[in-house]
Amino acid sequence: MENVVIIGSGCAGWTAALYTARANLKPLVLTGKLPGGLLTATSVVENFPGFPEGIDGTDLMVRMQKQAERFGAQTRYGTTVTKVDFGRSPFQVWLDDEVIQARSVIIATGASHRRLGLKSEELLERKGVTYCATCDGALPMFRHKDLVVVGGGDSACEEAAYLARFASKVYLVHRRDELRASKIMAERALSNPKVQPVWDSVVTDVYDASKDVVTGVQLRNVKTGAISELACAGVFVAIGHEPSTALFRSQVEMDDQGYIVCRKGTLTSVPGVFAAGDCVDRVYRQAVTAAGTGCAAAIDAERYLSTHHA
Ligand code: NAP
Repeated sequence: MENVVIIGSGCAGWTAALYTARANLKPLVLTGKLPGGLLTATSVVENFPGFPEGIDGTDLMVRMQKQAERFGAQTRYGTTVTKVDFGRSPFQVWLDDEVIQARSVIIATGASHRRLGLKSEELLERKGVTYCATCDGALPMFRHKDLVVVGGGDSACEEAAYLARFASKVYLVHRRDELRASKIMAERALSNPKVQPVWDSVVTDVYDASKDVVTGVQLRNVKTGAISELACAGVFVAIGHEPSTALFRSQVEMDDQGYIVCRKGTLTSVPGVFAAGDCVDRVYRQAVTAAGTGCAAAIDAERYLSTHHA
């Protein structure tokens, strides 16, 4: 029987692990398929306090893990939770055929990349369509080629600026004529001579699924309706994220977009089940806010356990 099972190993998960470990609760962290979460797919994190020169995303996550383990957090790597039952206490968490019993659970499953929703996008995934410039941008197939980045937020700007190091040209395709990104990220992308914005446009098709390789995109101008084509060797989709919460549907209350609804801090609709980080947060979605709510979930879980399982 575990005191606290933490599902997810991003900033929220590891911070929850650190705090519950320091409270002597010996938390069990189930890392999921992407240990360290989305931050491991970014390059330098410049806005996590305490690192004036910035820190590599993976490095930050490894440090968080080490810090939590130093105080007794237990880690199960690569473990994917297949089912949960929060309808009875102790709670049950399945890893395929194995069942873990838990007095409390902290959900910190984060978010995953939003997709354009095109059939051709799906067919060409990992064949030129990607969701992570830092993971794939340096691949030979993208070097010295024209590339397309889709999106207008911080991620899209960060990816465009990063890809410009390897590509011959980066088209930044955005559905409006103004970026959503923060000023500093927008300026960094737009001032790069290799980055060319394509405003008011959406990708309506990715070529060429019949050849199993990306050769270009079809664009539609949302203001004029004009259809055009752009030759490129890669499409980097950076249009935001969706909460990774499908597993908890019908177990805890969620809003219409799948974000877990919390009350009084990190309390979900099930007493003893807490949630933190990007699976809850549709507003801030920052590494430091995820860490902050991970801390809050740990404190809430500790208080719950001392009242209900003393
Ligand atoms: P985001 O801020 O939600 O931006 C998503 C972008 O994609 C928006 O420009 C949006 O257009 C566009 N978009 C959404 N759905 C679309 C669709 N179906 N087709 C075409 N375009 C679509 O997401 P994000 O850039 O991933 O950033 C998420 C959070 O992480 C933000 O809080 C951001 O500040 C943070 N972040 C920070 C850094 C950093 O500081 N280093 C780096 C990356 C991310 P509209 O603008 O028209 O809505």
